[in-house]
Amino acid sequence: MADGFFPLTSQQQEWAARAADLAQRELAPRAAETDRTGTFPSDGLEALKREGFWRLRVSREHGGLEESLLTTVLVTEALAKRCASTSLCYKMHLEASELVARIGTPDQVDRLVRPIVSGEAFYTVAGSEAAGRGGAFAQNNAMSSVIPSGDGYRVEKIRKSYVTSTGFATHHFFLCRVGKEATPDKVSVLIVERDKIDWKIDEPWNGLGMRGNNSCAVIFNGVVPKANLVGEEHTVMKDQGRRFLPVVTSTYAAVYLGVAAGAFEEAKQFLEYGDDESKPRIDNPVIRHRMAELSVEIERSRALLYSAASAFDREQPTSVLACSQAKVACSEMAVHVTAEIMGMGGGTAYARRLPFDRYLRDARAGVVMGITNDTVLSNIARMLFPGAPRKTENKAR
Ligand SMILES: Cc1cc2nc3c(=O)[nH]c(=O)nc-3n(C[C@H](O)[C@H](O)[C@H](O)COP(=O)(O)OP(=O)(O)OC[C@H]3O[C@@H](n4cnc5c(N)ncnc54)[C@H](O)[C@@H]3O)c2cc1C
Repeated sequence: MADGFFPLTSQQQEWAARAADLAQRELAPRAAETDRTGTFPSDGLEALKREGFWRLRVSREHGGLEESLLTTVLVTEALAKRCASTSLCYKMHLEASELVARIGTPDQVDRLVRPIVSGEAFYTVAGSEAAGRGGAFAQNNAMSSVIPSGDGYRVEKIRKSYVTSTGFATHHFFLCRVGKEATPDKVSVLIVERDKIDWKIDEPWNGLGMRGNNSCAVIFNGVVPKANLVGEEHTVMKDQGRRFLPVVTSTYAAVYLGVAAGAFEEAKQFLEYGDDESKPRIDNPVIRHRMAELSVEIERSRALLYSAASAFDREQPTSVLACSQAKVACSEMAVHVTAEIMGMGGGTAYARRLPFDRYLRDARAGVVMGITNDTVLSNIARMLFPGAPRKTENKAR
């Protein structure tokens, strides 16, 4: 939990403690096995459901807990410290259900939002398509089109290249274009229900890290009712981006902050007390110095993330920029911190007798996933230089 200096309310502290307790009880004992075998972490996610976490962000009006973004970040971080895969699946659920829970029609609230509260609906994102064709939220990359047809949209064998929680998730936040003539910036969102469409795994998940995610390549085929369109065709992201994107970016940041902080805690324990085959190493001043440096890196990323989420909760417009910056800061920090910790664990860590390589591999995903850091940076550049020509901005990196 955040045992630092950020001014948290007692309710936020309670949520962080509750998530840390669940993570220690339910996630930590399974994390190594989840990673080794690539097993989907259903037990941990079921525990999160049992203890009310699935409905964390749904409004009270719809039966949820209506917790703030800062609370969401604290919870996600605490879970990721003990099992990054579980935390990421959970974060995808929150992100994927955010828009429909906020702007859903009364019919959508009944069919698609209340089932989150009752624990029947678990969400994920089906956005990214094959390399370079539409990483979720990437600029200028065209999503495949669905074809309007009667009361529905025809989904013709659309392949989404990474769908976290494949098979376990009941509802997909499905990014697409409506009609072939829609330009790449005209993104629409459908909620695709797992049991009401044909889908098949085209490629199973065998990731370097985040191994419990089941982020398979999936082909969807069938018709989605028009009643499952979220917001307006073509403009939903433009209309809702400022309220939605910070939720996406800050929760990614929280996962990777948790990965770094979890690795740091494990390393501290190991360095202070040693393990079966090594004596404590904390008497080495170089190691102590390096740990001190890592603590600075973690705390400055944490401070940015908590401030950004808190700015969002206060409806400050700058939170879009700040949450984007926090996503890049936390994911890059996690890559560096986990690499340093591997080094301090020496050959014992490299031989995988310590848990550090799992954190290192999990951390690597943060750079290339969700909104890839390249995409976030081009978004940040656009916010910093709104007058710059849009066509050239992606050449930056
Ligand atoms: C563990 C994991 C879970 C995931 N879960 C989901 C999920 O549930 N739902 C989902 O929709 N997606 C998911 N993704 C996909 C993720 O969101 C990214 O879309 C995906 O990782 C990008 O990979 P790609 O091979 O398509 O990259 P590409 O788009 O081919 O990009 C390759 C590299 O080039 C860079 N690049 C690409 N275009 C540009 C540009 N215009 N300017 C500058 N740089 C550029 C990218 O940043 C990247 O570093 C997941 C990915 C991972 C690793």
